[in-house]
Amino acid sequence: MALFYHYLTLGYLLHGIALTLEVTALGLAGGLAAGIVLAAMQLSGQTWMAALARGYTVVFRGTPLILQMVFVYDALPHFGIRWSAVASAGVALAANEAPFIAEILRSGILGVDRGQVLAGRALGMPALALMRHVVAPQAIRTMIPAFGNEAVSALKNSSLASFISVQELTLRSTQLASSTFDFFSVFFASGLFYLLLTGTVSLLQLVAERTLDLDRQASAPPRGLLARWSARARGPRPPGPAPGSQAPSPGAPAQDAQSGLRTPIDREQRAQRLASAPIAVEVRELSKSYGERTIFSQLDLRVHAGEVVALLGPSGSGKSTLLRCLNRLELWDAGSVLIGGHRIGMSPGGLVLSPSAVARQRVELGVGMVFQHFNLFAHVSARENIAGPLRWVLGWSAREADARAQELLDRVGLADRAEALPRHLSGGQQQRVAIARAIAPRPRVLLLDEPTSALDPEMVGEVLEVIRRLASEEGLTMLISTHQLRFAEEVADRVVFLAQGRIVEEGPAHTVLHAPSHALTSRFIRVMAAGQLSGACA
Ligand code: ADP
Ligand code: MG
Repeated sequence: MALFYHYLTLGYLLHGIALTLEVTALGLAGGLAAGIVLAAMQLSGQTWMAALARGYTVVFRGTPLILQMVFVYDALPHFGIRWSAVASAGVALAANEAPFIAEILRSGILGVDRGQVLAGRALGMPALALMRHVVAPQAIRTMIPAFGNEAVSALKNSSLASFISVQELTLRSTQLASSTFDFFSVFFASGLFYLLLTGTVSLLQLVAERTLDLDRQASAPPRGLLARWSARARGPRPPGPAPGSQAPSPGAPAQDAQSGLRTPIDREQRAQRLASAPIAVEVRELSKSYGERTIFSQLDLRVHAGEVVALLGPSGSGKSTLLRCLNRLELWDAGSVLIGGHRIGMSPGGLVLSPSAVARQRVELGVGMVFQHFNLFAHVSARENIAGPLRWVLGWSAREADARAQELLDRVGLADRAEALPRHLSGGQQQRVAIARAIAPRPRVLLLDEPTSALDPEMVGEVLEVIRRLASEEGLTMLISTHQLRFAEEVADRVVFLAQGRIVEEGPAHTVLHAPSHALTSRFIRVMAAGQLSGACA
C-alpha cells in the first residue's frame, strides 16, 4: 500500500501525465480546428469539397490510430517533414479526431430546426450571422455530451503515443513496472490517474451542460463566467417593465369580431383608394416545379400597397411555395417577382444576387414573414427574438432594439412574458411574438403563411385579432394564406384562389367567398365552411 502511495506522488509518473495531457490537448485542439474545416466542407454544398472531406473521413476513420502515429513519426521525415515525438503524436491524434469531431459538429448543426434558419433568412440574416446567433448557440448545447465522449476517448487514445516512444503515462508505467516488477501497484496507480483525468472531463461536461441548460437559466440568475457568457448570448435584460406593460392585452381574443365585417360602402371606398395605390408586389409569369411536379406555371399576381390579399387553396396547391418565392426563400424556374418595383434576387443590372446580398435585399425592400410553425429562435427569450435581429441585421443599439421589442410585446399583449423562452409560451403566444418579430423592422410587405393552422382552436382568435389590427392600423401590404374563411372576409380586400398550379379565381373577398364563379372555388368554400361550422359546434 505504501508503494502504491509512493507511485501516486512519483515525479516520473507525474511527468508522464503532463505528456499525456500535452498529446491529448494537441489532438483535441488540432482535431477541432480540422474538424471545423471538414464539417464546413461537407456543409458547403460544393460537391467536390464534400467529396474531398468524405474521402478524408473514410481514410482517417478507417485506419488504426497507431498506424497513423507511426506514419507521421517514421514516414513523414522521408518527405522532409520532421517533428518531435510529442508533436507527431499530437498531429496524428488530431488527424484521427478530426473526422469524428466533424461528424459531431455536423449533427449538431443539422439538428437545429430548419424553420429557425428559414426565419433567420427571412429576417435578412446572412449565413454567418445565422450561424453565430441562431445555429451555433443551439448546436453547442446538443454537442456537449458527444464532445465529452470524444475528449475521454482522445485521452485514452493518447496512450498509443507510447509506440513512438513518447514518455507518456502508459509508457512510463510500463517501464516502471518492468524495472520494479511491482506490476499491480504501478498499473493500479496509473489506472487511478487515468480515472482522475477522465473524471475531470466528465465533471467539466456536467458543469457545461448545467450552465448552458436553458430551463435552469430561465429560473436562476447567471453565476460564473460560462453562465454570464451564455446569458449575454441570450441577450440583455431590460432594467424593468416598460411603461404601460400592464395595459390590457390588445392581443386578447377579439371583442369586436362580430362587427369586423366591412360595410359595402367601406369596401367600395377602400377598393377605390387601393386601386390608385402603387403596386407593392408583382409576380410575373412565375413558374416553379419540384422535380417532375409542376407547382405553378406562368403565374401572374399584382398587389397594391396597403392591400390585404388572402391566398386560399386546397392543401398542396402551392400557397406556401408562392409565399416563399415572394421573399426568395425559394428559388423558381422562370419569371420574376418585384417588390416595390425591384426584382427580388436580382441586381439592378439583372445579375443573380448571392445569398447574403438577397438577405440584405429582403431588409432593404422590407419584406417580413410569419410562418405556420412560428419558427421562433428556441434559445432566446421572446424579447430577444424581436430585439436580436434588429441588432444583428440592422445594427440597432441594444437600448433601441429592446425598447422596440418591449413596445411590440406590449402591442401583442405579451409585455409580461418578455423574458420567457418560446417553449414556455403557448402556441398562440409564440405566434404573436413571431408576428411582433416580423414587423419589428417596419416592413412594407408582410407575408403570413397559414399563421393559425398550427394552433389549438382556442388560440386562433388571439392571433387573428393581432393580424386584424395590423391590417387596419398599419397600412401594411399583406399576403395571408389561410383556411379561415370568415377571417379572410373580414380582413382581406381580395381573395386569390390557387388550385392546380394556377390562380383559378380572384376578386373582392366578399364576392369570391359568397358568390364564387369557379366550380373548384365553390367546392373548396363549401367544404371549408362545413368543416369550420362543425368545428365551431364541436
Ligand atoms: P400548400 O401550402 O398550398 O399546402 P405547398 O406550397 O406547401 O402547398 O406545397 C405545394 C406542393 O409542393 C406540395 O405537393 C408539396 O408536397 C410540394 N413541395 C413543397 N415543398 C417541397 C420541397 N421542398 N420539395 C419537394 N416538393 C415540395
Ligand atoms: Mg402551406
